[in-house]
Amino acid sequence: MAEQERLRDYHRKRDFGRTAEPRGRGAAAGQEPRFVVQIHDAGTLHFDFRLQVGDVLKSWSVPKGPSGDPHDKRLAVPTEDHPLEYEDFEGVIPRGEYGGGTVIVWDHGVYEPLSHDRTGRSVDFGESLDRGHARFRLKGSKLRGEYALTRFRDGGDGGEEAWLLVKAGGKAQGHGTPDPRRARSVTSGRTLAQVAADSGER
Ligand code: MN
Repeated sequence: MAEQERLRDYHRKRDFGRTAEPRGRGAAAGQEPRFVVQIHDAGTLHFDFRLQVGDVLKSWSVPKGPSGDPHDKRLAVPTEDHPLEYEDFEGVIPRGEYGGGTVIVWDHGVYEPLSHDRTGRSVDFGESLDRGHARFRLKGSKLRGEYALTRFRDGGDGGEEAWLLVKAGGKAQGHGTPDPRRARSVTSGRTLAQVAADSGER
């Protein structure tokens, strides 16, 4: 599927005359796939977890955010694919627009796909996600180590598709997830409140 086709939902939901979010013009994919975690204050405060698969960012909304504690199972609800350029988006989406509210880039980096079949052979990462389970090692500034995403409800019954994001193995890293209102951007060092103030939209 062409990138523009995969981003159809992303484009349909947004008015690019009003929001500064990227349209997605086909940024070149690097050697290692990237990930980004954004904090998004859009009525309900949540984290957006995105993994590069091919030329898009597969995306999940994670209400409580990823945890470094393997005992924490964090609900992750899939959202539309985003363009690769979204990794750098930090700012304010105007009120009344889709996702209206403030966004900071909480963490980003690269990840190593770790999915294997029963014989130990590595399998295509996008395919493992399609099948509903994928493991990967995050190499971010804040998030490091193995994580797994597992679909536990397929949404076929008209309900919402739902996944769990869990730190897989290893010892606990940090203490869960920091308070999203006090957390700082990995790129600018700013909090949500500071980004909102800087944009002039309060
Ligand atoms: Mn969001």
